[in-house]
Amino acid sequence: MKVAKFGGSSVSNAEQIKKVLNIVNSDSDRKIIVVSAPGKRHADDVKTTDLLIRLYEKVIAGLDYQAKKEEIIQRYADIILELEMTDSLLSTIDETLETYIATLKEKPARLLDALLSCGENFNAQLIAEYNNSQGIPTRYVSPGEAGITVTDLPQNAQILDQSYEALYSLREYDEKLIVPGFFGISRQGYVVTFPRGGSDITGAIVARGVRADLYENFTDVSGIFRANPTIVKNPEVIDEITYREMRELSYAGFGVFHDEALQPLHKDRIPVVIKNTNRPDDTGTYIRHDREINSSNIVSGISCDKDFTVLNIKKYLMNRQIGFTRKILGVLEDYGISFDHMPSGIDSISIIMRSKEIQNREEQVLNDIREKCDVDELNVEHNLAILMIVGEGMHRIVGTANTITHALAEANINLKMMNQGASEISIMFGIDVADAEKAVKSTYEYCYNGEYLKV
Ligand code: ASP
Repeated sequence: MKVAKFGGSSVSNAEQIKKVLNIVNSDSDRKIIVVSAPGKRHADDVKTTDLLIRLYEKVIAGLDYQAKKEEIIQRYADIILELEMTDSLLSTIDETLETYIATLKEKPARLLDALLSCGENFNAQLIAEYNNSQGIPTRYVSPGEAGITVTDLPQNAQILDQSYEALYSLREYDEKLIVPGFFGISRQGYVVTFPRGGSDITGAIVARGVRADLYENFTDVSGIFRANPTIVKNPEVIDEITYREMRELSYAGFGVFHDEALQPLHKDRIPVVIKNTNRPDDTGTYIRHDREINSSNIVSGISCDKDFTVLNIKKYLMNRQIGFTRKILGVLEDYGISFDHMPSGIDSISIIMRSKEIQNREEQVLNDIREKCDVDELNVEHNLAILMIVGEGMHRIVGTANTITHALAEANINLKMMNQGASEISIMFGIDVADAEKAVKSTYEYCYNGEYLKV
């Protein structure tokens, strides 16, 4: 059995929905389908999820929201018209939005989640109804009915283990099942969404729950590129990548697959394939537990993410001070700041975090560190980019770091920081934001177009 998830651009209009259903109906193993909300139909379009956020903002600001609501209903009306369906769903959409607004206005975080869920929820109902009308027995299953039970933190749901058992009974249905992505129901009875892009997470949870043989994740590209195609011209598509590699690359900017979606799959080793709705016969990229390593795929991918901030801390004899680092991290904890890397020397430590973590409170954090931690020097650097070279092959092959540093030196790039994780599947370089694109191009060239990394 396969679970197939279709992203926003795959279900953005009638034509795309027809493609999706051709794919779904052409394979009897594709039993459970998870869908996103209608995404962008063209570059300047707005995703339905973003329209729902705008509706929420109007309501919370106490402004007239009718025009925003109509815009959302119109997205579905356009699809319904083109698919020549009856428009009874439109009044349900209107009533549901109004009910949420009326009942949850005083609980903004709950209202936001409830409105956000509408994007995928109505799309799933629409798609199920249409497929049925085409003579294919199809059933809409809500996350509540499916048993997707989540924690109660708005916009940040985590799956509860009890869900997996409940989901297993979805195997009993004979019809094709359409499940909306992106949200679950908490034990307290609220609709709670996963972080943005969270339909991938729903797909993964369902795949694990029903013990699928394969989780197919359909999007608008034919797999995962080895580097950002807006930086490197025609990069190779990765044919196989491991869960661990994918996690590192998604963390560092590869947006094709949500990093939180890997967790449910990892344990039962359910393979994922990233495929293209517009070119379903392309092989795509497989994400698995293990992969074959050969001379041309030692490094799986290269990514570079901007917008990092570094706190550089110096303390003479730091290596002999017991608890020094704990105190600094304690300050970050007090502010709820999470950091990503912490390269250190005997008398210095750098803490690297996404800039949004510390924005608007940088001065307070620095003052607290100065007051509580007795540091000799403390300074902040913005504009740091993180280049990640990711590959399971690196720990066995001599010379990868040499190749990369050579490529960076050739491009005249100053390395501010270097860090190789204990797992040895990635090497991280801290570089200036201005060098980010150059770094990706040069390292890509050396890893894939040269003779440099051959064994
Ligand atoms: N519709 C949601 C978003 O735009 C979730 C998803 O598409 O995965 O973030």
